[in-house]
Amino acid sequence: MKKHNFSSGPAILPEEVFAEAAQAVKELPGAGLSILEMSHRSPAFTKILEEAISLPKELLGLGEDYEVLYLTGGASSQFYMVPMNLLDEGERAGYIDTGAWSVKAVKEAKLFGDVEIVASSKEDNFSYIPKTYSVPADLKYLHITSNNTIFGTQYHEWPDTEVPMVCDMSSDIFSRPMDVSPFGLIYAGAQKNLGPAGTTMVIVRKDMLGRVERAIPTMLDYRTHIKKNSAFNTPPVFPIYVAMLNLRWIKNQGGLEEMARRNERKANLVYEAIEMYDIFQGVAKVEDRSVMNATLFLSDPNLEGDFLERCTQANISTIKGHRSVGGFRASMYNAMPYESVEVLVDVMHKFGKQHAG
Ligand code: PMP
Repeated sequence: MKKHNFSSGPAILPEEVFAEAAQAVKELPGAGLSILEMSHRSPAFTKILEEAISLPKELLGLGEDYEVLYLTGGASSQFYMVPMNLLDEGERAGYIDTGAWSVKAVKEAKLFGDVEIVASSKEDNFSYIPKTYSVPADLKYLHITSNNTIFGTQYHEWPDTEVPMVCDMSSDIFSRPMDVSPFGLIYAGAQKNLGPAGTTMVIVRKDMLGRVERAIPTMLDYRTHIKKNSAFNTPPVFPIYVAMLNLRWIKNQGGLEEMARRNERKANLVYEAIEMYDIFQGVAKVEDRSVMNATLFLSDPNLEGDFLERCTQANISTIKGHRSVGGFRASMYNAMPYESVEVLVDVMHKFGKQHAG
């Protein structure tokens, strides 16, 4: 029996997607070849790639000025590709520091230009999204992390600025409808809400590019991949295929509105249980809580082993918090069934009642 998988990533994907992907490993329907053995220039894969590029455009309502790329190197490579392509020496980029992933992005950006930390929630162990700050108008871009996978915080409103924003959307892309117009560039490692590990999506507005003086190595220049439709070299064929299946699934289920409706319903169930019992303490400030990753501590840390054991007995997998935070974390991406969240919440109710007052 499959476990209820609350992993933060690589994470759950829809069962239908697993089934289709498994079939394609044996033989891609109509192709007479496995998806793993076919040329990335074959008509069958070219069609897959085209659909993998057109579906995000359709789901997010992207205009002609945006390009969708499938790259490699994880979201971590975007920490340096972004400033390498967008920020010249002597220019300034702003970063909002909301946790471990922003910190890593800042470290890389400093190699290429000047970095202004516009706001940070570090002093409160990243338990909230900063809201009171002003964004200097001369910034080349403002970088934010829309969902902080480790701490369980999420932007529910974008910063108010005219400066083009760059967003690490690794853990909440395609989880809700959104207005993309404030963003010059969005990137996301696939392995949470998009597909298997091995590809990274970049959505870039063309006017952001070609504005730096430095020489950029061919493979690290976004324009290379735009020109060649993400097939300048051999792209990660299988992760792209599975991402495409998952995007099709999202569309067929009703698109981003439906994803948001389901995700909120699931997250509310967990947050209600956290609020109901003193034994559970939410990590994140209520107004900034993530719909994707619910983080919690036990008010008596000595009971953590016991709670984990109850979860394990209920066939729940990967519920421990990130090692830097501790406690527990329930990651509930698009494909997470409501029924799995009910199983977790049932364990929480029993545990909460047992340790009440
Ligand atoms: N940003 C965020 C918000 C993440 O959650 C992660 C991965 N957990 C990363 C960046 C790093 O992604 P990758 O492992 O693809 O480099």
